[in-house]
Amino acid sequence: MEKAELRRMFSAQPDQFYNVQVLRNMGFERRQCPKCKGWFWSMGKETCGDTNCEGAYRFIGGRDLGWDFLQAVEKWEKFFEKHKHKVVEPYPIVAKWRPDLFFVIASIADFQPWVLKGIAEPPANPLVVSQPCLRFNDLDNVGRTGRHLTQFFMGGQHAFNLRDYWMNETLGFGARFLMEELKIPQEELTYKEDVWAGGGNFGPCIEAFAHGLEIVNHVFMQFEDTPDGNYKPMDMRVVDTGWGLERVAWYASAKPNTYEAIFPNVAKLRRDLKLEVDWEGQAKFWREIGLYDVSEGAHMPEWVRKELDRMQPLMGLYTILDHTRALAFALADGAIPSNVGGGYNLRNLLRRSFTINRKHKFGLSVADLIKEHAKYMGKRFKNLRELPDVDDIVKLEEQRYDETRTNGRKLVLNLLETGKLKSKLVELYESHGMDPETVAQLATEKGQKVEVPEDFYIKLKEKGKGGDKETVEVDRHLPETEPLFHKIPVSEEFEALVTWSQGKELVLDQSNFYPTSGGQDHDTGMLTWGKEGKAKVVKVSKEGKAILHRLDKEAPAVGTRVKGRVDVVRRMDLARHHTAVHVVNGAAVKVLGSHIWQAGANKTTERARLDITHYKAVTPAEMREIEKVANQVVLENHKVRKMEMNRTAAEQKFGFRIYQGGAVPGAKLNIIHIPGHDAEACGGTHVDYTGEIGLIKLAGASRIQDGVVRLELIAGMRSLEKMWKLEDTLNDAAVEAKTEPQDLAKAVRKLTIRVKSLTKGGGAGTEGIKLQGKVGDVQWGVVDMPFKLMENSAQRILKDTGNKAVVLVNREGGVVAVSTGEISALKLAQQICAKLGGDAGGNEKLARGGGREPDKAEQVLGKLF
Ligand SMILES: [Zn+2]
Ligand SMILES: [Zn+2]
Repeated sequence: MEKAELRRMFSAQPDQFYNVQVLRNMGFERRQCPKCKGWFWSMGKETCGDTNCEGAYRFIGGRDLGWDFLQAVEKWEKFFEKHKHKVVEPYPIVAKWRPDLFFVIASIADFQPWVLKGIAEPPANPLVVSQPCLRFNDLDNVGRTGRHLTQFFMGGQHAFNLRDYWMNETLGFGARFLMEELKIPQEELTYKEDVWAGGGNFGPCIEAFAHGLEIVNHVFMQFEDTPDGNYKPMDMRVVDTGWGLERVAWYASAKPNTYEAIFPNVAKLRRDLKLEVDWEGQAKFWREIGLYDVSEGAHMPEWVRKELDRMQPLMGLYTILDHTRALAFALADGAIPSNVGGGYNLRNLLRRSFTINRKHKFGLSVADLIKEHAKYMGKRFKNLRELPDVDDIVKLEEQRYDETRTNGRKLVLNLLETGKLKSKLVELYESHGMDPETVAQLATEKGQKVEVPEDFYIKLKEKGKGGDKETVEVDRHLPETEPLFHKIPVSEEFEALVTWSQGKELVLDQSNFYPTSGGQDHDTGMLTWGKEGKAKVVKVSKEGKAILHRLDKEAPAVGTRVKGRVDVVRRMDLARHHTAVHVVNGAAVKVLGSHIWQAGANKTTERARLDITHYKAVTPAEMREIEKVANQVVLENHKVRKMEMNRTAAEQKFGFRIYQGGAVPGAKLNIIHIPGHDAEACGGTHVDYTGEIGLIKLAGASRIQDGVVRLELIAGMRSLEKMWKLEDTLNDAAVEAKTEPQDLAKAVRKLTIRVKSLTKGGGAGTEGIKLQGKVGDVQWGVVDMPFKLMENSAQRILKDTGNKAVVLVNREGGVVAVSTGEISALKLAQQICAKLGGDAGGNEKLARGGGREPDKAEQVLGKLF
């Protein structure tokens, strides 16, 4: 149903949908707003109280309770803790447990889908959580409306299916916080009725306003859409109340805007950057700027427009502060800037920050700002205490930004000339990574003005860019199979019943055959039945909850009892590689930093690959370090602990790093725990002790996409085979070079020199030497040949050409001069070597020398002669 339709339906039956006795008891009455026609509750206020109907943020300049942001968070948490709620630790901002989201966009996302589906238990009930969230749909408004942010805290006040906790309880606790803690006079409070809908669920909601600011939205998720276009009550009704914690802090401080209220370093930065503002004189502007939300496209009076232009640098500072705080949270949780998915949004935040920083000549260190946020926020939000190498990440990103600008500049200038720039802003952003602010700045440098639409990012979002993950579900409704591979040893024969069969495929009621899944290849083996029946299992896959076996011949009929045996050697090869992937992943985190997450993995009998999130290439030295740490874990022979745990318990015990393989469905998780090293939710098969893995050899590392490095690794006997292969190659090469393997490098170097001398003609004489010039009686050239061959060549040239002197300089800066004696070879050589930063020795006929700056050779010789 459409929201407008729902709104009509709900407000027509207020007793059913907005049954708020608690407000009535306090003396509130239901009214209709003369301005927006919405229904609301108040103690006498005539309008609904939202920013537009109220006409301004009227609390600005009022009473300052003296709270900074973290104190506001603490007051809010303490209040609810005192009143029956458990304060749970915030979830990471990077939504690793969600198959459909990169970043948490609301506190309820913490509990979707598992808790809301009734599959997993909530960590407490009722609960509150100060949840960091990240949204990119309001980018155009950030820094200017006084209230918009990309990264914000939603104070989630949640109750899941509690009989005695619904509208009255929710609003009751909320009103007490607003009045007792935030000191809002009761007659200034208004409660506006609305509807909330999202993800196929909907329900009534009630927003609380004070002095033109919405502080909290009480959402009551209660209905779900049905496929026939109708709706029904949800099995689990949820209180999904979201407090704007920045707004709590803002209201409490009565500052001119939220940025002044929540960023502790903002006043100092303003002073340092000489962005002094006349708050008194501009009071009207700051109180009313909130009316001009870009997405609503309200007409802006001339005086506001002017003031807005004048405030650009200050608003730029606010924007950078917002963006760097968002980056602090995202980087701390392991997200990194890249050109795909959520990484794309982060790169955009960085680039916008660089652009604004340069445009207003702030000279701020973006990396330092990120670290400052982390330091302050880290007092309450533990994740922020461990940041990756922010300096390195920002430096690299700024280099890439500069490259993009350099490459894009030409394109922009062309488009400027043809007048097509404005229509290409989206393309420049999406295909060339140039944010519109950068484009506009390039245009300004050329003395032209390009208007960036104020709602650029909103439009972009509507177009569908911005990246949600994709989920694919396949289900042929085959009968369910009970997996045995986590229960019985691989070598054990098992019995099972055929529950589905078609051609060469069958499904069993239970099976020890591991199907291809989680990046691990399937098992193979044998099935036998009756007296004669026998078939090889050649392929095993998963469909829904069924394990589908493919045989090398016709499958037995449904109802047949079969015996199964898994190929142990193959399974162990797979298990070794799989456990090795976990070990290497843990080692990579230790060596490269906490931003390392598994981005993908694949395990076969031959080798495994592990894709990790990393913002640059992995060096050979880092590879060795990872190998070393990994093989130490092997040698320490840890028990690989395999346990089934409740989802919430596992998250609380091991943290969200368990979601290395992405979101895992279900109430229970298989946890693979290598104590002190790594813990992951993983459905694969593993060895029992790390010692069984054998040698782990990294066979290669390559950047497969922006922000992702692929590590190839080999374990067990396969790594021995790999070493043998290398040894064979080395031996063969040594035989060819007529030397011993340990002398191979030396022999090859000799051969190279010889080959070069042959092709360049150095050994034989003058063929192949390119002589650049001849001035008077001196012939000269810069050559590509070893020093010891140069004298010979020079003599040959001297003889062949009949000149009086020949000077050769090679690429390493070696200088040889030969002469018939009429011109001094020594003087020639000395002259040249001096210019190349070196020295020469010899006599009138032959001199040798060298210089430290061989690159200058051509220039020097060209000038001399
Ligand atoms: Zn209104
Ligand atoms: Zn795994």
